[in-house]
Amino acid sequence: MSRIFSGIQPSGELHIGNYLGAVKNWVELQRSYESFFCVVDYHAITVPYEPDDLRVRRREMMISLLASGLDPSIATIFVQSMVPEHTELAWIFNTVTPLGELERQTQYKEKAARLESVAAGILNYPVLQAADILLYRADLVPVGEDQVQHLELSREIARRWNARFDDGYFPEPQAKLTPARRIMGLDGSAKMSKSVGNTVGLLEPPESIWEKLRPAVTDPARVRRTDPGTPEVCNIYHLHRAFSASDVVANVETQCRTAGWGCIECKKVLFENMNAELTPIRRRAEEIRAHDERVDQVINDGAATARRVASQTMREVKDRMAVRPHASCTSEQHLYRAWTMANREESGFVTTMVCVTCGAEQFFDGTVPASLTCPRCHSTVFRQFTTPTARDEAVIAQLEEESRSLSYGDSSPDSTADDVRDLES
Ligand code: SF4
Repeated sequence: MSRIFSGIQPSGELHIGNYLGAVKNWVELQRSYESFFCVVDYHAITVPYEPDDLRVRRREMMISLLASGLDPSIATIFVQSMVPEHTELAWIFNTVTPLGELERQTQYKEKAARLESVAAGILNYPVLQAADILLYRADLVPVGEDQVQHLELSREIARRWNARFDDGYFPEPQAKLTPARRIMGLDGSAKMSKSVGNTVGLLEPPESIWEKLRPAVTDPARVRRTDPGTPEVCNIYHLHRAFSASDVVANVETQCRTAGWGCIECKKVLFENMNAELTPIRRRAEEIRAHDERVDQVINDGAATARRVASQTMREVKDRMAVRPHASCTSEQHLYRAWTMANREESGFVTTMVCVTCGAEQFFDGTVPASLTCPRCHSTVFRQFTTPTARDEAVIAQLEEESRSLSYGDSSPDSTADDVRDLES
């Protein structure tokens, strides 16, 4: 089964522009592809933000995605910052991405033109996007027209890395163009966007939606009720195409061109059809909010699944680049690291230093002196072993279980006692 990856910014509750432009399509795709859907909070911090606000927006986005129909039993739905391999791979890709390619990106030029001071994160944004996609070695990326240039850069980065380290390792991800249209805001002047303030929230109450829909801009040529209109230039018509059945859409065209309907009449029909689709989504969101712990469960399970794939990719990438693997890349190192981290702040930590020349042992509770000499042969070279206390046996058993489920693979020769000491230092 082909794999797809797509991400969405944690902008809080979805609006119908995001829903029609991306998420509704994801709900369909999750049944046909192995799917990874990510709330990309590392992308969101490239502009100024309030940390408390980000926490709320990330959670609201997760609730909106689940209410829209993303199903965690068939798709991996996760938060980007819970999978540190995203930024790790982005750094690696920074080393093969020409600066000129980044500076030529249209979105960078547009953003930079609006800012007094441009953070490097804005320039490198597409490199992180490439890492997001390639970390999962995705074959396809559902994108709108405006994201195609970024995807082309991801393909270019994959080609450059492959040419340098392993031809064919990263697939060149293909665009899967979203069938939904570019949804304009109700003011008719720009794409629907929270920053412009022209949105309709996916979970907004019906009365509030009608308050926005009633004065929404239509075909400017329909000045009087009797003026015939051109539906193609009217945003309400395009919303009908998203929410109304095909026979209704055909009727809208006829009624508009012949001035059979006034615009308010047309909007009332749209409102009913929007409500028919959005009411079940609002209900699901209420149910999800009533069981808050399930959202945490989805977030944690999604991160664990994503990390299984991401850590495997990083191990293979680093192996090809001769960069040292992270401690979590082998089960034994992962175990040791996690165990020592769990015990670092506690005192019952017994370390054995074994002299490599004569085998004499010295025991330490807590910190081992930086300078150590063997009392028997005066050697200064030791191997370090750490003996778990009885209390720690339970921690180790738990970590072994976790390590088995994470399937990091066989311990490599890296997992020697010497390396263990190296890790500690
Ligand atoms: S009748 Fe409908 S489609 Fe035609 S201009 Fe009015 S709102 Fe738009």
